Amino acid sequence: MDFGFTEDQQRLRAEVRAFVRKEATPEVIEETYWEAGWGLKSREFLKKAGARGWLTPTWPKRYGGLESSHVEDLIIAEEMSYTGARPPGLVGASMAGPTILRFGSEEQKAEWLPRIARGEIEFALGYTEPQAGSDLAALDIRAVEDGDDFVINGMKTFNTSSHFADYHWLGARTDPDAPKHKGVSLFIVDFKSPGITIRPLWTMAGWRTNEVYYDNVRVPKKNLVGTRGRGFQQIAVALDFERMFPVGPLQRLLDELIGYVKEAKAHGKPLADGEIVRHQLAEMAAEVEVCRLFGFRLAWVLDQGRVPNYESAMAKVFQTEAMNKLTHTAMKVLGPFGQLQRSSKWVPIDGMAEYHHRWQVVETIYAGTSEIMRNIIAQRGLGLPRAQMG
Ligand SMILES: Cc1cc2nc3c(=O)[nH]c(=O)nc-3n(C[C@H](O)[C@H](O)[C@H](O)COP(=O)(O)OP(=O)(O)OC[C@H]3O[C@@H](n4cnc5c(N)ncnc54)[C@H](O)[C@@H]3O)c2cc1C
Repeated sequence: MDFGFTEDQQRLRAEVRAFVRKEATPEVIEETYWEAGWGLKSREFLKKAGARGWLTPTWPKRYGGLESSHVEDLIIAEEMSYTGARPPGLVGASMAGPTILRFGSEEQKAEWLPRIARGEIEFALGYTEPQAGSDLAALDIRAVEDGDDFVINGMKTFNTSSHFADYHWLGARTDPDAPKHKGVSLFIVDFKSPGITIRPLWTMAGWRTNEVYYDNVRVPKKNLVGTRGRGFQQIAVALDFERMFPVGPLQRLLDELIGYVKEAKAHGKPLADGEIVRHQLAEMAAEVEVCRLFGFRLAWVLDQGRVPNYESAMAKVFQTEAMNKLTHTAMKVLGPFGQLQRSSKWVPIDGMAEYHHRWQVVETIYAGTSEIMRNIIAQRGLGLPRAQMG
């Protein structure tokens, strides 16, 4: 087994790093990292990355990809996410696009994939409803056939990105009489369609997610992705793609902490001399390295032509819980200074510790909770029986 990178891969990493240093201006980072979204500046940045094929490097060239391996994809994502230039949930390039590539018709691939690859459009995930989170098959928003369209009524909650994305990647019930896992279909809905209302829900990290209301919204039939009634299964695959996060944000926070303890002193002694500090950072360095290796394992599975399932659940639960631990470590290492926000003149590491400490709460919830990840690992990875609730 070879843990090294080829010369071409090392060259690619250097090229992406130079590109990010030049193009990811503070304005871009403000939008993608601190506001966790896409604004005008970050759209410009993503278009520049898209022009190089770096948003979707593994895709066929005819759809705007480079036909690279998933290892190269991960190298690019690692470099971009390290600086915060890549939004945390790039839905079009990382989740909707790969699902269209797998299940979409030729017309749908031709219509959506090149625009995603060029960084021109973004999607928001439209799965969760008040009664349908972990039990996603309970979703109830209705899509009823009417001529050349479906007419959609109902609501979604916690639909992040809906206020700036162009399209909704929507799970809706098309066949209410079918068993609940079989009556769902997947749609692409233009957010500009009449009848859609979007209301903000603010997270404790300061960024926005949303409720989305549908009131007789007409969606052309051609926007039903893949097979009618197979939406739940297609969403399950999209979720497998979603659960693969690049390690960049963890590595960055760890590096910032290491840099800080080398400079800062407490009671006249360098923080880096303290045994507890050293051990805590060493432990986190080992965990971040495991996260990185999980990432390359997933890349390898994808390069074999498979969609990782329990493997991405393993990576997701380990990495998000490592992020929880890392932010707690940051709080301990920085002491009361760790609680300061970016606006304070005394703030260490640009307020990243405080920001991530508020952010990390959601990490083990979205894209499937830690409990659900463990259920998937137990059932699909270990072959144990399905969990019985109650
Ligand atoms: C900030 C934020 C952003 C989000 N963004 C999006 C988005 O963009 N699009 C979208 O569609 N959704 C989004 N979500 C929704 C997210 O995916 C759900 O919150 C998550 O799947 C959990 O569902 P729930 O909130 O309904 O909790 P529930 O499913 O009600 O779970 C409550 C608790 O019960 C546990 N539990 C549930 N079922 C089981 C089981 N079978 N075995 C063991 N334990 C179980 C859960 O682990 C959890 O601890 C977001 C959520 C948040 C908080």
